[in-house]
Amino acid sequence: MTLPIFLIGARGCGKTTVGRALALAQGCQFIDTDFWLQEQAQQTISAMVEQEGWEGFRARESAALQAVSAPSRVIATGGGIILLEDNRQFMREHGVVIYLCAPVDVLADRLEAFPEEGQRPTLTGKPISEEVSEVLALRDTLYREAAHYVVDAAQEPDKVVSDIEAALQLAHAS
Ligand code: ADP
Ligand code: MG
Repeated sequence: MTLPIFLIGARGCGKTTVGRALALAQGCQFIDTDFWLQEQAQQTISAMVEQEGWEGFRARESAALQAVSAPSRVIATGGGIILLEDNRQFMREHGVVIYLCAPVDVLADRLEAFPEEGQRPTLTGKPISEEVSEVLALRDTLYREAAHYVVDAAQEPDKVVSDIEAALQLAHAS
């Protein structure tokens, strides 16, 4: 039995993409809290935020985190999950937390290419690169505080997966 693996990081860092590949490589189940919430609520995250505000969405997200947390699972989280201290503590205590860290220009390029607005409602109302820079400046410390390991997420997905696997070996050896 292995601890759940929580992937955290800013929008566009690859939590969903890398998470799916990591789960496949490890023979684990893959869960994405954004997808899980949208399926449960039968609506997009943008619609949830419109109806309930960010606070309502954050409450749902915290409940989702606890509901999906189980051994032998790779869990891709939403970019803002670390805003609540309870969530940071929950992940650190119940699993191995990996921060997929990438610079602003890499994140902005990816999000401009694939905005997926339904899943990523604007956080500031500003253009993508400005928003990415502002939000990362506010959240980077929280990602680092929550994480057991920081991995360079600007690399090719396969390399990100193998770096995570190396970190997991350390985690299970300690
Ligand atoms: P997140 O779930 O963290 O918001 P995604 O996995 O949805 O990020 O990735 C956002 C976009 O960036 C997708 O179009 C994905 O194909 C691309 N992407 C993710 N990781 C990488 C990577 N390591 N290298 C190149 N492109 C990537
Ligand atoms: Mg995602």
